[in-house]
Amino acid sequence: MTEPTTAFRPRILAVANQKGGVGKTTTAINLGTALAAVGRSVLVIDLDPQGNASTGLGIDHHQRKRSAYHVLVGACDAAAATVPTHIPRLDILPSSVELSGSELELIELPTPQLRLRKALAALPAKYDYVLIDCPPSLNLVTVNAMAAADAVLVPLQCEFFALEGLSQLLKTIERVRAALNPHLEIQGIVLTMFDRRNRLSEQVADDVRTHMGAKVYETVIPRNVRISEAPSYGKPALLYDHRCAGSQAYIRLAGELLRRERSRAAAA
Ligand code: ADP
Ligand code: MG
Repeated sequence: MTEPTTAFRPRILAVANQKGGVGKTTTAINLGTALAAVGRSVLVIDLDPQGNASTGLGIDHHQRKRSAYHVLVGACDAAAATVPTHIPRLDILPSSVELSGSELELIELPTPQLRLRKALAALPAKYDYVLIDCPPSLNLVTVNAMAAADAVLVPLQCEFFALEGLSQLLKTIERVRAALNPHLEIQGIVLTMFDRRNRLSEQVADDVRTHMGAKVYETVIPRNVRISEAPSYGKPALLYDHRCAGSQAYIRLAGELLRRERSRAAAA
């Protein structure tokens, strides 16, 4: 008897928040590394023209000739632009500066919001997880990420106005869900750069948990200088200093994410 074959599809998570500097790239890099470390095959897609995820994973500029930009405009396949990192089981689709002007080009092309989704449908079957590092904007590139994703993972910095930014982001997710991607979920909200000594950090964390309940991961990423040092060495914090509090928090976050994924799959 032959089993029916089901096309294997990775879980695609868009790491998104329209605010800059809240920990999107740090989360994409370190969560990706932690998932690879526990045996998952991971692709990080750098959709920010600044290319911080590419730099933080040690990708030289000569390895960025084919980038997420070329994939979005249809100039090359996702697989052809993907390069391995120094970390086993972790690949990256790097970014390049051309991404910054890409919106005007994209709207001239067919299905401008679905370019990434279509490109990722042709990915090789080896990936378990795709983490998309979004730009700090709710632009057409971010919409492409949300339209391609199964779920959104939101890093939220524990600071004043965090909730206001969040409600704007949730509205965008709702719009993408209604117009482009009815199955889009919120994987979770991760509180970043948490400072125990700062009362505001505590207050914001409490507020976010009150409003968003179980969507907020139990794991909180502390503010940790080792995390901010790592990118200048072209390494994830997890490789630069795996024992620091920040790295340990990302390992716990990966565990929590995998538990959520397992209970999701069990309920399906
Ligand atoms: P985004 O991608 O949302 O713009 P980044 O991940 O690039 O944010 O983080 C912004 C800056 O804050 C970077 O310099 C990064 O190294 C630093 N950073 C991120 N997370 C932490 C943390 N938990 N502790 C200390 N610095 C952090
Ligand atoms: Mg970034």
